[in-house]
Amino acid sequence: MHVLVTGAAGFLGSHLTDRLLAEGHSVLGVDNLSTGTLDNLAHLSREPRFHFEQHDICVPFDPGPVDYVFNFASPASPPEYQRLAIETLRTGSLGTQHTLEWASRYNAGYLHASTSECYGDPLVHPQTEEYWGHVNPVGPRSMYDEAKRYAEALVMAYHRTRGVNTHLVRIFNTYGPRLRPGDGRVISNFMMQALRGEPLTIYGDGRQTRSFCYVDDLIEGILRLSRADMHLPVNIGNPSEFTILECAQAVLEVTGSKSELRFEPLPQDDPTRRCPDISRARALLGWEPRIALKEGLAKSLDFFRRKAGSPAAPADGR
Ligand code: NAD
Ligand code: UDP
Repeated sequence: MHVLVTGAAGFLGSHLTDRLLAEGHSVLGVDNLSTGTLDNLAHLSREPRFHFEQHDICVPFDPGPVDYVFNFASPASPPEYQRLAIETLRTGSLGTQHTLEWASRYNAGYLHASTSECYGDPLVHPQTEEYWGHVNPVGPRSMYDEAKRYAEALVMAYHRTRGVNTHLVRIFNTYGPRLRPGDGRVISNFMMQALRGEPLTIYGDGRQTRSFCYVDDLIEGILRLSRADMHLPVNIGNPSEFTILECAQAVLEVTGSKSELRFEPLPQDDPTRRCPDISRARALLGWEPRIALKEGLAKSLDFFRRKAGSPAAPADGR
């Protein structure tokens, strides 16, 4: 297949590109480099089946015939989507519509990277796909949450009225190599702080929870979903739930760091609990994650060690 990946220079888009190439497909990667970096694609510079175009998906453009579109373009970390608030809303709405037009025009399959943030600060736990969410439409996370919820509605509309073969994955917190140090997400912050001997910054009392999925597990689930006959959203994530304090402890153990913990204010509307119910993915795709948190952190250690050795990367996205 000839596959288009938007957001290809990002954390997840670059891993997805690697897997698609390994399966024998050719890939056109599109990215505006707003939060991604060409470093994530540097190893593909001599790969004849990979082409890259620096392009903003909000600006109309015709990629030519493609067999499948994976739409991964969007800022994803809270400090980044807050810095790029209007761009995030445009990317989720206008940009996503452009990618759906490509799929419609070329009769291509389509998968959109949605998010557990569609559930907001959830009142149902763990979160099933049927839960409609508890989202603040005007709060500090609204530019991301509402862009992603609008994008889901847009995807369903193209499926229902144009017959596009769409797929929606709701991704829960994912980590691994290429998670950009300095973009402010918890695993990259903690790994960088631990490796530099700086205090780990715990927001709030650290009792809020997240459920962390290693990137290889996530990509496997997404590829299976892309081939499935399912158009409603599917949660892909790791149902092992950790408090942020437990996550900090795991990072200290894996890195062997003696860093202290520093407590800082909890950002407004930071979800209290988050854990995927993955029954649908299990039944439909025969998928479940295999890599536990400490194992995944150990697999990510080399990447963060290299980054911690380079003075350019700040450790906290705030
Ligand atoms: P990332 O910031 O590393 O990657 C996003 C990429 O999209 C970047 O390379 C950025 O430059 C590009 N981009 C942004 N706006 C664009 C535009 N208008 N045109 C073209 N390119 C644009 O983030 P990520 O973690 O790899 O996330 C990828 C996707 O997965 C996002 O849609 C995100 O919302 C979703 N997601 C990720 C997670 C996670 O835990 N990593 C969780 C839920 C959802
Ligand atoms: N967090 C933290 N310290 C940090 C970065 C994040 O305690 O240095 C917390 C943050 O408040 C949230 C959780 O870790 O409760 C996950 O944050 P992240 O930004 O990675 O993702 P999201 O909030 O979007 O799930």
